[in-house]
Amino acid sequence: MAAAWQDVVRDSAAVREAAAVAVDAALLAGVLMRTGEQPHASDVVNYAPFTLLPSAVPRALFEQAYAVQQDFNLLVDAISQNKEFLEQTLASTIKVDDFTARLFRIYLQVLEEGLAQTVFLGINRSDYMFDCGLDGTAALRQIEINTIAASFGGLTSRTADVHRLVLKVLGKTEEASHLLPNNPAKGLALGIAKAWELYGSPRAVVMFLVEEVQRNIFDQRCVENELWNRNIRVVRKRFRDVFEQGSLDASRRLYMDGQEVAVVYYREGYVPQVYDQQNWEARLLLERSRAVKCPDIATQLAGTKKVQQELSRPGTLEKLLPGHPEAIARIRATFAGLYSLDEGEEGDRIAATAIADPDRFVLKPQREGGGMSWAGPLGGSIVVWAVFGTGSSSVPAPGPVLRDKLKPQPALNYLLRAHSSLRVSECISELGIFGVYVRQGQDLVLNRAAGHLLRTKAIEHADGGVAAGVAVLDTPYLV
Ligand code: ADP
Ligand code: MG
Repeated sequence: MAAAWQDVVRDSAAVREAAAVAVDAALLAGVLMRTGEQPHASDVVNYAPFTLLPSAVPRALFEQAYAVQQDFNLLVDAISQNKEFLEQTLASTIKVDDFTARLFRIYLQVLEEGLAQTVFLGINRSDYMFDCGLDGTAALRQIEINTIAASFGGLTSRTADVHRLVLKVLGKTEEASHLLPNNPAKGLALGIAKAWELYGSPRAVVMFLVEEVQRNIFDQRCVENELWNRNIRVVRKRFRDVFEQGSLDASRRLYMDGQEVAVVYYREGYVPQVYDQQNWEARLLLERSRAVKCPDIATQLAGTKKVQQELSRPGTLEKLLPGHPEAIARIRATFAGLYSLDEGEEGDRIAATAIADPDRFVLKPQREGGGMSWAGPLGGSIVVWAVFGTGSSSVPAPGPVLRDKLKPQPALNYLLRAHSSLRVSECISELGIFGVYVRQGQDLVLNRAAGHLLRTKAIEHADGGVAAGVAVLDTPYLV
């Protein structure tokens, strides 16, 4: 896969010239982030980190990822409506994890009161790696599906233009013409607009529920501006604004200081640190309301690592999607080995395997955005032992999940970051496909793939995020 740019990747003069063009092109195109020093103002901004060169992606796997996205939308939507499944699957998690437990309490409380919400909007991103087998063939393997606050759909709508220019500067005009257009911002806005329309109150606004510190504001602005283009009014509010200004009327319509809200699009709320008592109350108010939440709390729970683990169990998909054998086959084809550490004998056996061959596995914490622990060669067995204690009886339930470690083929690239020197790195990429769907009552009125995101990182990092400063934005070059 690395072969695409072999002739230029070591040509330091050409690379330097192209990098200078690339950075200015990114700034011109709006591939921007606020700086760490001034995270609250847009007076000083910089480019969001990105690769100098687009990365090779096997065309067949790229197409496979797109083809399965509507199935994943269907699956997440089905899980979110299946109380029994969520209850059973999360029972052990909520015993030990206070965050999931509190989300779950709100979920039950809202169900008990009776849902006021009748229109449902899902925006998710299913993330994959191209796992390289022993025979050298690559396979599409899912890392996770993000059902809340899946980001970078905005900025990545602008990276292909930057890479197209870079390739031209490097004398690759033909290749430049093959880079695909990609506009998740438009696709996400389409879903939000549809939900807004079905809510049926033309004066009501779309509310972006945003973080206290909004370094990635430009990513969100891309989606916001698509909504303004459709003459839909957008407001940006934090949980604490909701606590102070939010109210429900008798039919549980949501108002912010007298302004009706049709859609709440969460870009916040998936980690426990953001919730103090007031913010929990704000969350409950939003969930009880008639407004379309993206996602509703059930869909957020559907995206937990514990649910992902349960999905890989034989028979689970069949129960969740009866009558959809083709969708199930497409979904299952993307699953990587995933092993429960909760159980006695099965757990012991897997523990022994992991300790004997730690480089084959990773340990994933259950929490979203929790990053990664490697059961890698350096201290890997110690990590495994830390989870298992000295015998199965001391395994905390439910511990982190043990997974097959995916091993994509590395390729050389340059990771362009503000204030960093230009040097070549061995890199691996992760492909995300955005999904969007809208349901009114029981009718799925929209179900689509909305675009893609390629993120690339140097191989020495176990973790992934762009916001976390590890991965950078990239563009797929199909091979
Ligand atoms: P979260 O984004 O919620 O922290 P992820 O499941 O996306 O959790 O894992 C974080 C990162 O760790 C991924 O982006 C990926 O780079 C890496 N990773 C996760 N699972 C694996 C795996 N099975 N093999 C190799 N790398 C992985
Ligand atoms: Mg992730």
